[in-house]
Amino acid sequence: MKKILSCIKIKCFKYIRYMAAVSVLMIISLSQASCSNKTESPTQTASSSQANMSDTDLTEKKDVFLIDTDNAGDDGTDTLQVSDMSVKKKVPEQSFADVDETVYITADSVNIRKGASTSAPVLKKADKGAKFQRTGKNSEWSRIIVDGETAFVVTRYLTEEALQTTEGSKDQGGSSAQYASGAQIKLDPSWKYAGNSKINSGYAVLYKAENNRKDITVCVNAGHGTKGGSSVKTLCHPDGTAKVTGGTTAEGAVKTVAVSTGMTFNDGTSEAAVTLKMAKALKTELLSRGYDVLMIRESDDVQLDNIARTVIANNTSSCHIALHWDSTGGDKGAFYMGVPDVASYRQMEPVASTWEKHEALGKSLIQGLKNTGTRIFGDGRLPMDLTQTSYSTIASIDIELGDKASDHSDATINTLAKGLADGVGIYFGK
Ligand SMILES: [Zn+2]
Repeated sequence: MKKILSCIKIKCFKYIRYMAAVSVLMIISLSQASCSNKTESPTQTASSSQANMSDTDLTEKKDVFLIDTDNAGDDGTDTLQVSDMSVKKKVPEQSFADVDETVYITADSVNIRKGASTSAPVLKKADKGAKFQRTGKNSEWSRIIVDGETAFVVTRYLTEEALQTTEGSKDQGGSSAQYASGAQIKLDPSWKYAGNSKINSGYAVLYKAENNRKDITVCVNAGHGTKGGSSVKTLCHPDGTAKVTGGTTAEGAVKTVAVSTGMTFNDGTSEAAVTLKMAKALKTELLSRGYDVLMIRESDDVQLDNIARTVIANNTSSCHIALHWDSTGGDKGAFYMGVPDVASYRQMEPVASTWEKHEALGKSLIQGLKNTGTRIFGDGRLPMDLTQTSYSTIASIDIELGDKASDHSDATINTLAKGLADGVGIYFGK
């Protein structure tokens, strides 16, 4: 009988541990429970085993099984989980390996904290796909920048890969939500890479759609049109490395003109005048379809170099489309400047985190143009290492809508605007 009793005690003890592990509430309820709840326990001896379950036992069990809802709560689910007394341990000083990379949240409602500990105050919660700059990491915690402040998040809820969202990429870029329609947006010196810009006294203007709002902001960048832009040089790449392909600036160069002058059409019209006309037509088309539009340039001159244009777009827009015509003279058709398939280039940030979005946007625009009957050059893609691409943290493309010999009548421009707007719709799944 003694043997049976001790066996039952062990079983009951195991049961208590199990139940304690499920939840604190269950532990409390256990104070009234008996082994008779357990089907494999002989009912005859149930009451005697209950006698062994003193208040002291329960208190001890509670101490052992501190439940750290917070730890689990960092994935936002707030599921109860047992954490082996981790709460009782003093949090050791965290050391971080310095990094500089874009990361994305992999779960919903993840806690962003003021310190690298689950006991640190929660600054805010972030949802799946939210993008942050990571400045340090260790196996448990990552140091990130949130609204200009240092904050911390559990490393396992971060990925360096941009997440594919079912609604397209509208929430992956910057946001213009804080600005009113008509807002003049200057380069904010605190924005990433803003310090690399040399010409930035001008501003872009935001226009918000009145009807059928999509809450997607398209940056429309009329290529060229910066007085003095070709006598100033800026770094080709944010990290100071050399260009990997030749173009207006040769391969191997570290610096390039801040904004080039652009070509002149065979009929004597400047490229900058045509890109401006194109930008205005595209703005009208996009607004009518419910897109907000950030206009980089609305007259002959805007004092924003290619880096300033790109950084403003990064921080306010969902995608960035720079309008150009190529300097060849064969009326060869439209194409986008693809991201060169050069390992060092595709591994360089922010290209590494963004290049697939550039390619997807470029393909979508070409598809949209093709659908309107626009002539396409080859497969519609020519890889080129551009300042715009090198600094873009959102889907961003330089599209060449033709060349020196191409027609740029109002009718053609309007057709191109429809094709580009269709392409934006393809990209965002609208
Ligand atoms: Zn151009």
